[in-house]
Amino acid sequence: SDTKPQNFLQQILSQDLADKKHTKIVTRFPPEPNGYLHIGHAKSICLNFGLAQEFGGECNLRFDDTNPGKEDQEYVDAIAEDVRWLGFTWAGDIKYASSYFERFYEWAIHLIKAGDAYVCHLSPDEARAYRGSLKEPGKDSPHRNRSVEENLLEFEKMRAGEYDEGACVLRAKIDMASPNINMRDPILYRIRKLAHHQTGDKWCIYPTYDFAHGQEDAIEGITHSICTLEFADHRPLYEWFIEHLPVPSKPRQYEFARLELNYTVTSKRKLKQLVDDNYVDGWNDPRMPTISGMRRRGYPASAVRKFCELIGVTKAASTVDVGMLEFAVRDELNESAPRAMCVLNPLKVVISNFDGGTQMMTQPVHPNNADMGERQLPFTKELFIERDDFTEDTSLSRKKFKRLVLGEWVRLRGAYIIKADEAVKDAAGNIIEIKASLVPNTVGANPPEGINPRGVIHWVSATDNVNCEVRLYDRLFNDAAPDAGDKNFLDAINPDALIVISNAKAEASLANAEPGVAYQFEREGYFCLDSKYSSKEKPVFNRTIGLKDNWAN
Ligand code: ATP
Ligand code: MG
Ligand code: MG
Repeated sequence: SDTKPQNFLQQILSQDLADKKHTKIVTRFPPEPNGYLHIGHAKSICLNFGLAQEFGGECNLRFDDTNPGKEDQEYVDAIAEDVRWLGFTWAGDIKYASSYFERFYEWAIHLIKAGDAYVCHLSPDEARAYRGSLKEPGKDSPHRNRSVEENLLEFEKMRAGEYDEGACVLRAKIDMASPNINMRDPILYRIRKLAHHQTGDKWCIYPTYDFAHGQEDAIEGITHSICTLEFADHRPLYEWFIEHLPVPSKPRQYEFARLELNYTVTSKRKLKQLVDDNYVDGWNDPRMPTISGMRRRGYPASAVRKFCELIGVTKAASTVDVGMLEFAVRDELNESAPRAMCVLNPLKVVISNFDGGTQMMTQPVHPNNADMGERQLPFTKELFIERDDFTEDTSLSRKKFKRLVLGEWVRLRGAYIIKADEAVKDAAGNIIEIKASLVPNTVGANPPEGINPRGVIHWVSATDNVNCEVRLYDRLFNDAAPDAGDKNFLDAINPDALIVISNAKAEASLANAEPGVAYQFEREGYFCLDSKYSSKEKPVFNRTIGLKDNWAN
């Protein structure tokens, strides 16, 4: 990649290797297992694993599990599956911050012995008042100058469970007047009398993110600890711990701008609310911007990776148009998706001059890729076409309506040209059937003089097809900035983001459709089998994305 322009992280890594500051790059992706991963995390995954790949290094998957209250094994499993699905392999075994708890504890004692930490009994409200503000320096806690012996004893009591939650904390002794509030004697340990998904009841004190993160990096030999911009103010603290502890390596923290997408919410807390309050059908609802939602909806992992590459990595926050993600999906699927036909809203067509039986029509699986093979479409006397593809209105121009008009011709994709002879109606005047005739010898051949089909439409046999449910998805929010300012994102939920069509008719070959494979339903969009609700009797197809961007203006 000598010719490609490098982002600021690639430049740093190249320089560090050139300077022999490191012989091998080690990065990590450090999710907290308190929810499912979303598209923002995908950016971090692609970045951390991508840099490791590009520079011949390694990337760890490490669970930052220092907060047992909100964490769960379900999330651990889902996150690992999502990273794997995105196409990345972590170095060695999965890592857990919790497996370093004993070492963190020893390091806390190291700080106490050095006079750099103390047990503080201020209540949370008092501690807040003592902390000061951006304009005002903080005040020293009355417990700040306890003896080392007293601190060791108090900390031991904290560990032994002798104090209630909130009764006291262990704090670093740094600088209550620092302009950086993170440096005003930050909390290292708090009491949480909760079982932990990895360590069970072993601990009732848990390290804070700040006291854990850099030390996890140091233990694992992480060379470049890449995080989002909101942690820039924590970097001095990250470095303070690395300086004051006997850590085995000295990682450095770098920050990049988090991904913000319009029409999308990327906060685990808000996504969890959508799930918990049943606005969506679980974390992997195809409308969700979660990795598992995108997977269930049919987004290819390669398209998500491509999108992350397209948006690049910067230090300046900005909002990306979700249309770019959709573009990446459409672009990828146009290349790779097998073609098929499915009639969403069926209208019966009876071909008067076709004598029963079945004529197999051969179509390529992909129009531009012969390697993908061919498929067989049973053509029968009774067919279905899309209700919207027929009109009795003969005044519509050929340009406006390139489909079937009463008394005129249209080509059935991969089959005959037909003419609509009569629209049969029920007592209420609704069209219930079209009587049509085919033009002989027009399969794969031009029609005779004087017959001008208006266009090409899709169809399926009415007697040999797959009855299926089709779910049409759209953006989950109809506001470009659903959670901006003091807006309530729940008010912006798009009520039309899911439309269920229960009696669609798909071509017979789709009886063998497989989950995880997206098909282009010709003229309708890209669809894939739903992994949750499909059955052999009734397949359910999710619309991954339409053929065109209907939101562009
Ligand atoms: P959320 O705010 O959604 O809860 P988080 O940052 O708390 O996200 P973590 O599990 O801590 O969630 O995230 C793991 C990694 O993913 C972190 O390194 C974090 O910086 C990164 N990350 C999270 N959200 C984004 C985003 N929108 N864009 C880029 N990286 C992100
Ligand atoms: Mg986090
Ligand atoms: Mg969070």
